[in-house]
Amino acid sequence: MTTAPPTPEPTTPDPTEATEPTAPATAEEPLDLLGIGIGPFNLSLAALADGIPHLTAAFYDQRPSFQWHPGLLIDGATLQVPFLADLVTLADPASRWSFLSYLKTRERLFPFYFAERFHIHRAEYDAYCRWVAETLTTTHFGQQVDTVRWNPGRALFEVDHTHLDRNGEAEALGRTHARNLVIGIGTSPYVPEPLRPLAEAPTVPVIHSSDYVNQRARLLATEHITVVGSGQSGAEVFLDLLRARPAGRERLTWIARTPAFAPMEYSKLGLEQFTPDYTRYFHGLAEPVRDQLVPQQWQLHKGIDHDTINAIHDELYRRTLDGGWPDATLTPGVTVRTAGRLGGTGIELHLEHEQQGTRSRLQTSAVVLATGYRERSVDQLLAPLHPYLRRDAAGRPRIDADHRLALDPSISGAVHIQHANRHTHGVGAPDLGLVAWRSAVILNALTGKEPYPLPARTSFTTFGLDGTAASNVPTRTAALRRG
Ligand SMILES: Cc1cc2nc3c(=O)[nH]c(=O)nc-3n(C[C@H](O)[C@H](O)[C@H](O)COP(=O)(O)OP(=O)(O)OC[C@H]3O[C@@H](n4cnc5c(N)ncnc54)[C@H](O)[C@@H]3O)c2cc1C
Repeated sequence: MTTAPPTPEPTTPDPTEATEPTAPATAEEPLDLLGIGIGPFNLSLAALADGIPHLTAAFYDQRPSFQWHPGLLIDGATLQVPFLADLVTLADPASRWSFLSYLKTRERLFPFYFAERFHIHRAEYDAYCRWVAETLTTTHFGQQVDTVRWNPGRALFEVDHTHLDRNGEAEALGRTHARNLVIGIGTSPYVPEPLRPLAEAPTVPVIHSSDYVNQRARLLATEHITVVGSGQSGAEVFLDLLRARPAGRERLTWIARTPAFAPMEYSKLGLEQFTPDYTRYFHGLAEPVRDQLVPQQWQLHKGIDHDTINAIHDELYRRTLDGGWPDATLTPGVTVRTAGRLGGTGIELHLEHEQQGTRSRLQTSAVVLATGYRERSVDQLLAPLHPYLRRDAAGRPRIDADHRLALDPSISGAVHIQHANRHTHGVGAPDLGLVAWRSAVILNALTGKEPYPLPARTSFTTFGLDGTAASNVPTRTAALRRG
């Protein structure tokens, strides 16, 4: 690893000039590849990069250790994708970093085989990823990357980072040089504007669902709980609270802006929109068409999976067996306009029903905001590179088909983006099912050697009429005739 010894804080950079650290820079050779962030996306890249001889790589994450959405590791919650969407299998099923390999190290292959589970527990996926993160030697935690600049003289990226202790306090500064970068800094929880003041006040339990598990006991101790948001997280939180409350005294409300508590699209042909073929097709569309499509496709990723919907209905139904109704209100189509504190512990939500054109107030004792996540912007991290970045009409970074930022040609290094690319790569961008494929695309582009050959065709649907991707691939009959 090429972490520098502690150096004084680097001065604010001139975007066009490379700076020298005040203490000696790293003595080691520059890396071929530096990864920023170690969520599943960059962890997949680290795992596949591990199989490439002579490629020097390091990956930095600000957290003290690997954790995958710890606040939502609700008992029994599962992945929404099959276990084959692990970090490597869909690019390299023989990789030592597969989920099945992990099970082998834990001597759990036989129990898994008999369990016949395609959708594994979320806690199990987290443990599998942690095993990869802790076994690879290229992953480094407690390293917050602060800024990235280009050194034209050395034709290298200079990456400044802060070593954090386990409490998140800065311990030392470092600088690493790399020929190429891959950024996978993920998302951060989103709290709607009207609820921000409440969420920031520690006295009332108004929490984002990303913190649910830590706050669960505190929530359950309150009189009445409101869950806001009808995505998968909102549904899982509502189900978990429902199961924890006594029948008839549930005291729960679940509201959402969407017109219905809608299921996620799960038909097999519908799921082909999560293939490399669709991703290529989407990338080739005009920017205004892509921008129109993304919100239209909400049901591909924002709905609730069928099992969770069924479990909620089952649980509610079970509570009617003695003739009563559960004390739970489920209302879609509702927006929270504003919110305020009532006395010391109460909360008042001001609600609006769009279809009815009506307004009302709801008094509650705790709120769980299952209001989603927003992609972390690369703008701050890449501030010194701004003059070199090519942007689209909406000011977003342009990202090519190989997930590479479009940069001024004077920069010979590549910056690949593993997140924040829904505007260029479509609905599959945050999906775990495309993780291994995308990592392989990036490594193939970086090395120029195709260490991970990829299939030319991945879906039965042919997207578009221009003959891209699928229709150029020989059919079975043609292939057999030739063979
Ligand atoms: C609860 C939940 C469940 C999900 N389940 C599924 C599912 O079943 N199937 C599916 O397809 N998708 C799922 N997703 C969507 C998606 O796959 C995940 O969000 C996934 O974690 C994205 O991985 P990532 O690597 O992009 O980002 P993250 O997992 O968010 O990781 C990003 C990392 O970057 C680090 N970082 C950020 N900034 C810096 C910096 N400046 N320096 C150093 N490190 C930094 C962060 O500490 C973090 O560790 C789920 C999402 C959530 C929230």
